[in-house]
Amino acid sequence: MKRLRSNKPIPGIDQPGRLESIVNSLFSTMPPRQTTLMLGIVEILVTKSEIEAAARSMCNRKAPGPDCISNELLKAAVSSNPNAFKRIFSRCMSEGRFPAIWKRRKLVLVPKLGRPLENPSSYRPICLDLWNLLYDGIFKIDMPLDFELIAFSDDIVVVGTSQIPFVLEERLEEVYNRINRWMVTHGLELVTEKKQVACLHQQKNVAATPSLKYLSVQLDKKLNFVEHTDLVSNRAAAAAKQLSFLMPNLRGPRQRCRRLLSTVVTSRLLYASPIWADCMQAGGWTKMAAVHRRSQLRVACCYSTVSHGAAAVISGIPPIQLLANEKRDIFEGRSKIDARNNLVSDWQQQWDTSPNGRWTHLLIGDISRWLLRGFGEVTFHLSQILSGHGCFSPYLHRFNLQEKNACAQCGFAPDDAEYAFFRCDAWENWRRQTYGELGIDKLNPGWQAGSFQPERQRKESDKVNLKG
Ligand SMILES: [Zn+2]
Repeated sequence: MKRLRSNKPIPGIDQPGRLESIVNSLFSTMPPRQTTLMLGIVEILVTKSEIEAAARSMCNRKAPGPDCISNELLKAAVSSNPNAFKRIFSRCMSEGRFPAIWKRRKLVLVPKLGRPLENPSSYRPICLDLWNLLYDGIFKIDMPLDFELIAFSDDIVVVGTSQIPFVLEERLEEVYNRINRWMVTHGLELVTEKKQVACLHQQKNVAATPSLKYLSVQLDKKLNFVEHTDLVSNRAAAAAKQLSFLMPNLRGPRQRCRRLLSTVVTSRLLYASPIWADCMQAGGWTKMAAVHRRSQLRVACCYSTVSHGAAAVISGIPPIQLLANEKRDIFEGRSKIDARNNLVSDWQQQWDTSPNGRWTHLLIGDISRWLLRGFGEVTFHLSQILSGHGCFSPYLHRFNLQEKNACAQCGFAPDDAEYAFFRCDAWENWRRQTYGELGIDKLNPGWQAGSFQPERQRKESDKVNLKG
């Protein structure tokens, strides 16, 4: 069945008339029958409630047909104007005619095994809807005790449990043969080479591969998703690398846009997370967090030395483990608001007890207030103050980029973020101006970034000029 996914092109498919000749020889055409007259005298009325019931029965989040109109859109259209649909369907039924465009289907040509690809008869034509219909029958196959069949799209998985290895193997073989027989009687073939068997336990007596990929999730025998973590971390790291070129510290996109771009990395990491979130072990989380941190640093325009905790808070992107737990909670039926509140409270607890990023914690102690502030987008310069990592003498001195750790303006050492921002006399004029705008007398490190919003900045909210 995996042959559907094969990228091998049909020989000569791009030559004019080749596709038509295959399709025409597979589908014989018949002259249209004269049914219009016979049905024309009967008026069949489709009721509004029938239309509404039909719309309700359509499932959400299904791939649309060739018209690209999703079921969600169709439902919305029916609920806003059911009478239009009622008229169209009543007329179709009465006249026995349906628009030709409704009969269009996505055709898949499945090559038959071992047949010359040049012959039209070497292909089995399957319309995708027909494919689904055909496929449903597979669930009616009899299964031995403790065996279950799971199928999605064209991937089938047989899940079986047994205490005794050879019983397991025997039954598995039996199920495989039953599926194969079913496929053959329905004119389909299983691709034996693609068959994978994995034993999801520490049992060594079964011939099995160490892991199995199902719907892009790598299942390993201990079910701790180590291999899966490696795979998604590598994929996410590749995305993070590409995205970092789009997000230079200076003159790059604004923070809102950066956060949007970074969702590529987050969603790659969190693929199928409700399945693995509870099984993931510390090593897995560390690996994912390392990749995630890179995108948090880019969103926050931070120096690469900034700790993970501080980068998460400044960028406003929660740690990956908390995001995975949130997704799992929603998957298990918790409301989105509840799950988010839970995430923020867990995050706050982690932030309060973390040994790193304490300077940032002094400035941004309350995560919830910081996230909900609605003004003051973080920029390259602002994040230097917020993280303490930047053009400050002790920082540059620490990395041997500057000989002394004293302030170039007043000579005081150490000239760190706290000193430069709150105390150095060289910036006193700028500081007084800021006090005036905020309507306060004094500014302390514990002022809580995100608490004050100057009147002038309500509209131009993100222009925090640190140079004075
Ligand atoms: Zn100074």
